[in-house]
Amino acid sequence: MIIGPPPLKWEEKGKFTRKINTVFHLGKLVEIYRQLNSNEAAIITQLRTGKTFFNEYLYKIKAVDTAACEYRYKELIAHFLFSCRKWRQ
Ligand SMILES: [Zn+2]
Repeated sequence: MIIGPPPLKWEEKGKFTRKINTVFHLGKLVEIYRQLNSNEAAIITQLRTGKTFFNEYLYKIKAVDTAACEYRYKELIAHFLFSCRKWRQ
């Protein structure tokens, strides 16, 4: 069993991207991208759009068998960045 938040309602889709965009202060996003090399820019874009190497997305496109991380939590971007035990020290 995977532990994770309930599926998003249609009005909530894109909420994470909007949150990330807010963090980047939309108007300054282009300037931030100019300071990054192409690999760094690609990672930021993946995090903004949700199309990443995390199991939640890979499961959606049927590339892996589970959406969970090794601790059985749904491997969402926010989980990876803020709460996954794998990355705590
Ligand atoms: Zn985890």
